[in-house]
Amino acid sequence: MTRRTFILLGIILLPLTITAAPADIRANPDRMEQRIKALSAFGANADGGVDRIAFSEADLAGRVYISDLMREAGLSVRLDTAGNIIGRREGSEPYLPVIMFGSHIDSVPGGGNYDGDVGVIGAIEVIQLLQDNGIRTRHPLEVVSFTDEEGGLTGSSAMIGGVDYRMLSEVSHSGMTIGEGIRAVGGDPNRLDLAERKPAELKAFIELHIEQGAFLDEENIDIGVVEGIVGIRWWDVTIEGLANHAGTTPMNRRWDAMVTAAEYILAVNRVATGMPGGQVATVGRIHAKPGAPNVIPGEVVLSLEIRDLSAAKMQRVFNEISREAERIADARFTPIRHAEIGVASLPAPTDERMRRIIAASAGDLGLSFKFMPSGAGHDAQDMALITPTGMIFVPSVKGVSHSPKEFTSAEDMANGASVLLRTVLAIDAGALE
Ligand SMILES: [Zn+2]
Repeated sequence: MTRRTFILLGIILLPLTITAAPADIRANPDRMEQRIKALSAFGANADGGVDRIAFSEADLAGRVYISDLMREAGLSVRLDTAGNIIGRREGSEPYLPVIMFGSHIDSVPGGGNYDGDVGVIGAIEVIQLLQDNGIRTRHPLEVVSFTDEEGGLTGSSAMIGGVDYRMLSEVSHSGMTIGEGIRAVGGDPNRLDLAERKPAELKAFIELHIEQGAFLDEENIDIGVVEGIVGIRWWDVTIEGLANHAGTTPMNRRWDAMVTAAEYILAVNRVATGMPGGQVATVGRIHAKPGAPNVIPGEVVLSLEIRDLSAAKMQRVFNEISREAERIADARFTPIRHAEIGVASLPAPTDERMRRIIAASAGDLGLSFKFMPSGAGHDAQDMALITPTGMIFVPSVKGVSHSPKEFTSAEDMANGASVLLRTVLAIDAGALE
């Protein structure tokens, strides 16, 4: 080839190589780990975990730290009226919709140092890598740290225009109401409408998060490609027996609500275990009346929870449990009533194209991956209602989460951020089209 054609080829290929995510760009595990450590100082407790409850002093301090990191990475930082921290990097085509990614930094009481944090630190890492490598995307990018994820997906609900305003007067773990908390972090609970984003403004949303389960760790897989966030339904289950003297009532003349409850609980477990698929069903709470050692329980109230990625599947599990309940109730002469207490949350499947892009990104980086549901709730389930959404999981050692023992290695965090970077660049280059 002549020198001239070589130069020409170079000119033609140059823009391609810039947008095609050079395979050698990888997240920096040391930098990520150091930042996770620095963040974990805000709200650090004696167990090695954090109490960084939304709206607490620790949360406020952590938010300042995150905003500073965003600025250092070259983002222009603003707060929306829900208190979501949003760092923006302009693209070369300013009218294109935003590619948004991020997670949250608030914790549950007695929480760990990775839930949410990895997604925010990982998102900032992506921006840092783009800066360091002189890559300018076509689309504007926004890194988001959502307000009060653990208290009910407050920030992302506002972003999709889905705030239940009664929620604002609920007292959160911080001691403040959610409305007061939003004000304390710099938002305006009376103007949450201004935090709302329209589908046309957004190109996609991606959340990097720890798995909070043990599948990836046990199977030694690098990346989870999330198929969706499971839906949750709850019931109060009331079993009616007859309270009577535990000493004078013979065994064959009892309508013992507790014995029925025992059979019911086993049936729930059997039904959920017996069907193929990933559905789960749980009885997590039991209350017997009158609740004395010397009285046969006259009434037992239980909770029933069912989770699955498919609403139809959840219904099938419930129907099967109801049938079993009827059989048990008839045999024991103790009626069982189910009363559903609101739809806790609908299943939120991720976008199929996003799954493919994330899987391809992991594959290109030589990482192993697996498609899997998320059993825990995430801000991504809100965002999925307004824009193509994907989620990237990294392993949680032994599946421990919402605990000071939560742990994800620096290498795994960096793998997640590298996949996030590649995913963002693929979307920027038109992979969703
Ligand atoms: Zn989380």
